[in-house]
Amino acid sequence: MDRIRLWDKEFELFISEQEIRSAIMEMAKTIKKDIEGKNPLFVSILNGAFMFTADLMRELNGPYELTFARYSSYHGTSTTGSVNEIMPVKVDVKDRMVILLEDIIDTGTTMNYVMNRLRTQGAADVRLATMLYKPEAMKCSLVPDYTGLIIPPDFIVGRGLDYDELGRSYRDIYKLKV
Ligand code: 5GP
Ligand code: MG
Repeated sequence: MDRIRLWDKEFELFISEQEIRSAIMEMAKTIKKDIEGKNPLFVSILNGAFMFTADLMRELNGPYELTFARYSSYHGTSTTGSVNEIMPVKVDVKDRMVILLEDIIDTGTTMNYVMNRLRTQGAADVRLATMLYKPEAMKCSLVPDYTGLIIPPDFIVGRGLDYDELGRSYRDIYKLKV
């Protein structure tokens, strides 16, 4: 499919499944090296990171502990700037290496908040792995430790990402037609 329609908007094919999967495969190799001999806690950020999490964890193919958390700071097609803790991390992170798995970093507001929160709770090393990164939209000094692909600040859907709850299930990534 080259084009999809969600609610009132048209989207066009932007990144193929093959391209995103090979980027995740490369990321998995780097992460695998960095976590050798450690006991990291992976935290998948719902809902958007569900497909990225499955892709990455399958590549890592190890005994790693994985938990899920949920925050919200994004409505419609632009960010609101405030973070709600809908389902915070429940595992004790004290003295542990924590690797957050996020679908996309836009302004950085959400992950900046969550990473600082985990550090306050005593995590030894808090890292961020993101499937996609929009550096031009960044509003804080956050830099992801592991990035799949860098993209321009367009609004995208697919592979976990939604437009008002539709579009998460597509295997490819689409961008809003302007
Ligand atoms: P940030 O806090 O970095 O501004 O926003 C991060 C969150 O906003 C992501 O986890 C994601 O849920 C949402 N988001 C940011 N950019 C996009 C986008 O282009 N498309 C969609 N569907 N969600 C986005
Ligand atoms: Mg998200």
